Amino acid sequence: MPSAGGPRLLLRRLREIMAEPSSAQARLDKLVGVIAANMVAEVCSIYLRRAGKILELFATEGLNRAAVHNTRLREGEGLVGLVAESAEAVNLSDAPADPHFVYRPETGEDPFKAFLGVPIVRGGQVFGVLTVQNKAERVYAEEEVEALQTVAMVLAEVVAQGSFFNVAELDEPELRVDRPRKFTGEGLSEGVAVGQVVLHEPRVKVERMIADNPVEELKRLEDAISGLRVAVDEMLASSELDLSGEGREVIEAYRLFAHDQGWRNRMRDAVRTGLTAEAAVERVQDETRLRVARMGDPLLRERAHDLDDLARRLLRHLTGESQVEAMPLNAIVVARNMGPAELLDYGRERLVGLALEDAAATSHVAIVARSMGLAVVSGLDGLVDSARSGNAIVMDGDSGEVHLRPPADIITVFEEKRGLRLAEQARFAAIRELPAVTKDGVAIKLLMNAGLAFDMPHLAESGADGIGLFRTELQFMLGETMPRLADQTKFYKSILDAAGDKPVVFRTLDLGGDKVLPYARWEREENPALGWRAIRIALDRPALLRYQVRALLAAHTGRTLRILLPMVSNVDEFNRGRALVDRELERARLMNLTRPVQVQVGAMLEVPALAFMLPQLMRSADFVSIGSNDLLSLAFAVDRTNPRVARRYDNLNPAALTLIRLIVQSAAENSGDLSLCGEMAGRPLDAMALVGLGLRTLSMQASQIGPVKNMIRSINLAEVSAFVDRLCGRTDHSLRTRLSAFAAERGIVLK
Ligand code: PEP
Ligand code: MG
Repeated sequence: MPSAGGPRLLLRRLREIMAEPSSAQARLDKLVGVIAANMVAEVCSIYLRRAGKILELFATEGLNRAAVHNTRLREGEGLVGLVAESAEAVNLSDAPADPHFVYRPETGEDPFKAFLGVPIVRGGQVFGVLTVQNKAERVYAEEEVEALQTVAMVLAEVVAQGSFFNVAELDEPELRVDRPRKFTGEGLSEGVAVGQVVLHEPRVKVERMIADNPVEELKRLEDAISGLRVAVDEMLASSELDLSGEGREVIEAYRLFAHDQGWRNRMRDAVRTGLTAEAAVERVQDETRLRVARMGDPLLRERAHDLDDLARRLLRHLTGESQVEAMPLNAIVVARNMGPAELLDYGRERLVGLALEDAAATSHVAIVARSMGLAVVSGLDGLVDSARSGNAIVMDGDSGEVHLRPPADIITVFEEKRGLRLAEQARFAAIRELPAVTKDGVAIKLLMNAGLAFDMPHLAESGADGIGLFRTELQFMLGETMPRLADQTKFYKSILDAAGDKPVVFRTLDLGGDKVLPYARWEREENPALGWRAIRIALDRPALLRYQVRALLAAHTGRTLRILLPMVSNVDEFNRGRALVDRELERARLMNLTRPVQVQVGAMLEVPALAFMLPQLMRSADFVSIGSNDLLSLAFAVDRTNPRVARRYDNLNPAALTLIRLIVQSAAENSGDLSLCGEMAGRPLDAMALVGLGLRTLSMQASQIGPVKNMIRSINLAEVSAFVDRLCGRTDHSLRTRLSAFAAERGIVLK
C-alpha cells in the first residue's frame, strides 16, 4: 500500500494535531485515525509504557474502543511486548499464527492478520509501541516500516517533552524524561556531593524534527557525512597515531563505520520520510543503540560506543555546536567511563563528583578521583541517557545512591548528609595526633598515597606518618608535553617541601595499562594490563627512567631518597632498574652534583610470580611494597578496569590472604622491609585482616587514615592474628562475614 498522502503529509498533520488545544486523549484519538488513513490500515493503535514495564493501550482506530486503558501487556508479552522488548520493528503477514501472538478478546482483533509494530523510542528509552493492522495477509513494505518509525520517533519526542499532552494528566510518571530518577551503583569514593550534571560527552540538541524542505535536508545530510568522512580520515592519518596490530584494526573499523553505506542509506531513508537531517541521525542512532544493547554482546557494545561517537560528530557537523560544556560550580561529571587523564582535564576547582556507568573501584580513574577528593559512584546503568546537562544531581559515594533531578526534600537530605560528613571529618581530625597502636601495644605505621600537588595538605590533616606511595605518573598525565628535567626536579622538591620531615616514597613512572600519556606515541595492545607497562617500558626506554631518577636525585639534596620500581616481575628486572639508579648516582658523584644522603630502592610486589622470589629479591631490594590492586587482579585473572569482572573476587578470600601471608612470612624470614599500598589498606575491615597477617605498614588514601586508625586502636592484635590465621586455613569462601561478626562482637571500630 503506498500511503494515501505520503509520510511527509502525515508528519505535517501530526504537527497540526499536536498544536490543537483539545485534551491529550482527544488528540491521541485523532492521531491514530490520521495514521490509519494515511497508511491505508484498518487498525492503528498506540500503546504507552506504564510503571513496571506495562504497555497499556492508550488509543486505537479499528480495535474496540472499550479496550482503551484496559488492555495491558507486559514487556515481552505478545507481539506488542516483543516490539518493546526487542526495540525493533515486527512485521508479520499472519500475526495470529506467530508464537508470540497473545489473544486479547476485549480488543476484537480477530479479523486482522497483517501486523506492523514499531517501538516509540527516544534517547535510548522505549516509551511505547505504535502498531498498524490489516485484515488481508501482507508483509508491509520497507517504506511503510520507515514511515511508521518516523511517526513513532516524532511521537516519542513529543511524549518525552510533555509538549503534546500533559503526561501528568495521563498519570504516567514513567514517560517523563524530566522526572526525578534514582540510581543505585557502587560507591567508589566516599563523600556527598550536591551539584549539576556536566555530561562528559554532551548530547547535541536537536531542535527541529520535521523538515520544511526535504530536498534541502538530504543535501545537508550528504554534506555533513562528507565532512565527517574527511575529518575522520584526517584524524586517523595524523602522525600522532602510530598504530599496528589490534590497534589499527579498531581504528580501521571506526573508519569503515564512517564510510558505511548502510548507515548512510538508513539516514537518507529517514530524511525521505520527512525528518530533518539531525532527527534522521538521531533516529538511526537510537535504533542501533537499542538493538546492540539488547544483544548483550560486550564486543558489539564497544562498537556501539564508536557508533555513538560518530553520530555525535555528525550532529556537530550539522549543528555547528562545539563539544565544550560550560563548567558550573559544583559540577558532577556524568560519563559511561573515562581515563584518568580525561578526568584531570576538568581540573579540581569546580568539580565535586563523578558518576559513571562503567568503572571499577581500583581503576585509575577512581584512584585519581579519590585523590581529587571527589565523591565517585559507578555501575549507574542508564544514567548517561537520562541525564541532561545542567540537571540537578546529588550523590553519596558511600552508599552508591544517586538522585537525578531530585525533589527539594531529597536535596535537603543530601545537604544535611554533607554537613554530617564534615562533622565526621572533624572527629578524625581530633584523633590525628593519637598514635596508631593496638590495645596490646603494637604500633602500626599508617602512610598515605599521593600523586598530585593537591594531595599534600592532606598529609598534615590526616596525621599520616608519611607518603608510602607517590604515583609520579599522574603529574606526567596532566600536561600536554613531557615534563622537562628542570620541571620534574622543581615538582619533586615542592612535594618534599610540603612533606617536611615526613618520608616520601616516589614510585617511578607506572605507565601503560589504563595510564597513557596524551602526548606519547603509543602502540595499542590487545591486553594492556599484561603488556608493555611500568618497568618494562622503563628498561626498554631507559632515557625516560634516567631523567626521572636524575630529577629525583637533584630534588633530594641532603635527604634520603626512596625510589619504588613498579610492576617488577622478576629479580633480574629489579636489578637492572637498580643498576640504572646506581649509574645515575655515580654520574652525580662524578659531576659533583648535589645528592641525597642515602638512596633506597624498593620493588612493588604486584606480579604473583615475584611472591616466590623474596629471598633473592631481598638481597638487592631495600624494601618491598605490595600493590594489592594489581597483585590480586593478576592472581584472580580479572581485569581491574572491567567492572563486569572486577567485583567477582573479594580481597578477603582465603586465597588472597594466604598469598599475602606467604609474602609477609617470606619477607620476615629475609629481614625485609615490607608494606602494602593497594586500595585494600584503606578499608578498615580489610586492613584489620592485613595487620592480623603480620603487616605493620599500610599506605592508603588520606581520607582513610582516620577510620583505619580507629580500627587499629580498638583491636587486640594477638586475638585478630589468631582468628585470621585459624580461618584462613579452614574456610573456602571470603572471610568478610566472619571478620565483620568478629569485629562487632569485640566492639572494634570500623569507621
Ligand atoms: C597497586 O597495584 O596496588 C598499586 C598501588 O598501584 P596502582 O594502583 O597505581 O596500579
Ligand atoms: Mg599497580
